[in-house]
Amino acid sequence: MKFGGTSVEDAAAIRNVVAIVRLAVNSRPVVVVSALGGFTNALLGSVETAIDGDARAASKSLEPEFDRHLNIAEQLLNNERRAAFVSTVGDARSKIRQLHKIIAAHPVTSPPLQDEIVSYGEHLSSQLLTAALAEAGVDARHVDARSCIKTDDAYGAATPQPETANAIRVEIEPLLAAKVPVLGGFIGSTARGVTTTLGRGGSDYTAAIVGAALDAREIQIWTDVSGVLTADPRVVRTARTIPILSYQEAAELAYFGAKVLHPKTIQPAIDKSIPVRVCNSRAAKEAGTLIVAESEAAPQTIKAIAHKNGITTVQVTSARMLGAYGFLHALFGVFADHRIAVDVVTTSEVSVSLSIDDTSDLADLLVDLEKLGSVEVEENRTIISVVGEGLRNTPGIAARVFSVIDDINVTMISVGASSVNLTFMVDEQRAAEAIARLHRVCFEEPFPSTPSSADVTVLA
Ligand code: ADP
Ligand code: ASP
Ligand code: MG
Repeated sequence: MKFGGTSVEDAAAIRNVVAIVRLAVNSRPVVVVSALGGFTNALLGSVETAIDGDARAASKSLEPEFDRHLNIAEQLLNNERRAAFVSTVGDARSKIRQLHKIIAAHPVTSPPLQDEIVSYGEHLSSQLLTAALAEAGVDARHVDARSCIKTDDAYGAATPQPETANAIRVEIEPLLAAKVPVLGGFIGSTARGVTTTLGRGGSDYTAAIVGAALDAREIQIWTDVSGVLTADPRVVRTARTIPILSYQEAAELAYFGAKVLHPKTIQPAIDKSIPVRVCNSRAAKEAGTLIVAESEAAPQTIKAIAHKNGITTVQVTSARMLGAYGFLHALFGVFADHRIAVDVVTTSEVSVSLSIDDTSDLADLLVDLEKLGSVEVEENRTIISVVGEGLRNTPGIAARVFSVIDDINVTMISVGASSVNLTFMVDEQRAAEAIARLHRVCFEEPFPSTPSSADVTVLA
């Protein structure tokens, strides 16, 4: 059972979580929890301030956050548990202060120190939730995620290593008969014990890894919306819950921006055929979304529209490409050398368009790309992706999608690479409008049914 940041942002939210876990105790749950909503951003902001050289301001900026933790403890915990948590917060505060001083004295970005600081978000939330559960009579036991999520040393975006599964079984399985283990999501450690993090939103991934290692009956992602919706509810207010998704649909939605699931969450579930359930911690009775293996179980329709803003597209044009081999190899080699992931690719005879969302190394990348051909860059693009098993066999879907946005410039159309998504790029400024119109045509108006043979005129 994974609870996201908004599910633990204040005392009332944590009370809901405690009630949900209590009801599940007989199913022997493992609890994975994110940092209190907003705290990870504050921790990262404090690192920036320290890099700018002001350690005092960096530490001071976190005071309201520590107060928030103490405030919640005051509302939820009594006597010894409260005193123990107050001292945990005190230790975190002084350790973070030292780390800020080190960073300010050596003002280069320090990835391991940044991960160490950021990990306090989940470190504190997991101890707070363990205490709140204990206070409510649940026999909860805190587990330091760093003892079992063993990763490489790619700080900020670390990859769990194969020994993780066994470490989870060794650390967590023996507890399950009598206790409810509680661990912080998102954090891990290298073989040498240095703290790492799995990338923003990574607690979902921790939950999936833990669920797969323990052969869980279900991986539950508890969040602030009632499941995976037909579109991002911040863009389409009428978006509604999708009852059932296939793994492939859920994975595509997550890759293309549905923030409700971290993109890596689905793979561990696929590996062990474990259903993933997405539910609302503030409306626990609502059904939410069930994500399962069999696409037959998930009706063959268009399920949702995902989008991702802040995308940059790069178009490389070269006559050398015409009839030549090895060009794409060289082109992708440049992206590999710069360790930049490419999301969408479209090609013509003499040009290739690629989309990226990490532009931190763009200037250097362009220098190398220009050796291959002329390069055009467009920033502030949005990837929109229409997802559903129904795309495999719904004639006319592309025509219908593009006809409702025919006054919006669409580029990089990709369909069929995955048979469950239709993806394209629009200008960020027109994205919300495009998504709203697509939502209307896909989910709010009746979709024309597949023509029957009687409707088809056969030309002799
Ligand atoms: P948590 O803190 O629980 O991990 P997140 O903020 O990471 O929560 O993810 C939940 C949010 O994802 C929702 O509040 C919603 O704004 C956003 N979201 C984007 N696309 C979708 C979608 N298709 N369905 C549901 N939520 C979505
Ligand atoms: N707290 C981390 C973040 O904000 C991880 C998570 O919430 O899943 O990115
Ligand atoms: Mg999240």
